[in-house]
Amino acid sequence: MALLNVLVYPDARLSQISQPVMEFSEDLRKFMRDLEETFRSFPGCVGIAAPQVGRFERIILVDISEKPKHVNHGFLVLINPEITFYEGSSLGREGCLSVPDYTGKVERAKFITLKALNQKGEKLEFQMSGYEARAVQHEIDHLDGKLFLDRLVSRRNALSKRAEIPTKP
Ligand SMILES: [Zn+2]
Repeated sequence: MALLNVLVYPDARLSQISQPVMEFSEDLRKFMRDLEETFRSFPGCVGIAAPQVGRFERIILVDISEKPKHVNHGFLVLINPEITFYEGSSLGREGCLSVPDYTGKVERAKFITLKALNQKGEKLEFQMSGYEARAVQHEIDHLDGKLFLDRLVSRRNALSKRAEIPTKP
């Protein structure tokens, strides 16, 4: 397995649109293992999309189970994900591995229905709400070449610089 290099804004490749996965090959399975290892190497990270590591295929990983206050489906591998129903809206703060220095306030649907395939190409369907629904919407945006920066609710005060984390002596 290998850690993959995460593209960081303003890398132009982050605005590339990703293509659907057509073939569930051994190469794909190897990539998925590397993607998961890369995802796990960032503590507190709740999602990653394949284009963030330079592979322009419609694959995302989401796992908010470390945020126990929020209802969730555990670790999710979502291939060719598609939101088929949106309802409500909520405002929340988002961060992104590709925008390491900032967080921003973004409006997202509160409830979604999500269709996707798993690694074997089997069909999945989920009803999601709240923080998990937000994470999925954020990751699917990456597949369409969008960052949370493109969706800030206000240009003036929606963006915040992350506090410096003090380094231990
Ligand atoms: Zn992101």
